[in-house]
Amino acid sequence: MGIMQVPNAVFLVGLVVQCAIRYHFVQRTKSEKKSVRQLDRLEKILLAAMFPPVLLLPLLYLFTPLLSFADYHLASLIRWAGAVVMVASLWLFWRSHVDLGQNWSVSLELRENHQLVSHGVYRWVRHPMYASIWLWGLAQGMMLANWFAGWSVIPAFAAMYFIRMPREERLMCEQFGDGYREYARRTGRLFPRLTKAAEPAGGRDPGSS
Ligand code: SAH
Repeated sequence: MGIMQVPNAVFLVGLVVQCAIRYHFVQRTKSEKKSVRQLDRLEKILLAAMFPPVLLLPLLYLFTPLLSFADYHLASLIRWAGAVVMVASLWLFWRSHVDLGQNWSVSLELRENHQLVSHGVYRWVRHPMYASIWLWGLAQGMMLANWFAGWSVIPAFAAMYFIRMPREERLMCEQFGDGYREYARRTGRLFPRLTKAAEPAGGRDPGSS
């Protein structure tokens, strides 16, 4: 069974840590009131589409033979390199939750008294949490030697990222105006900015949705 291989067991520990971080911050931000909700149908579909690749397929792969038809050989070096990427992902995932504080939410929304966060990891990039999920998708592919369980996070999260990120930047522009545009000029989306400025998504027309 998959779980008997050491890299798979390490992956499972990482998955438990990731779920524990999420659970902790969901509890911590539970009491905050929302002022604007954008949990529309599309958001619900995108969030639901993340469940099989992040939880269901890895657990089926680790504990059942159901996905064994899609197993392949992965060199041990790649699997352990994946574990390093996983640790980096978990650190960034945790750090971005800490830095966003009460402004964090699973779905795209604004809290009452929502503050623009531009310190900590947000000083360098606008979407460190999404960067951590990209890293997680890469780590999962490198660690789980199965085409489905390993590589399914990347396409599911690509759909979520490319649809949600522009909406999120538009929402931030509407809420924080020039403050967000100025912040966007200093930062990159997923990587720290090395060159000069571009408009955030929706930056030219903050009124549009
Ligand atoms: N895209 C960010 C945050 C993801 S959590 C990241 O990848 O790190 C999603 C919520 O964070 C959104 O509902 C939005 O309201 C909030 N948010 C995103 N960027 C923010 C910022 N710089 N300051 C405060 N809130 C932010």
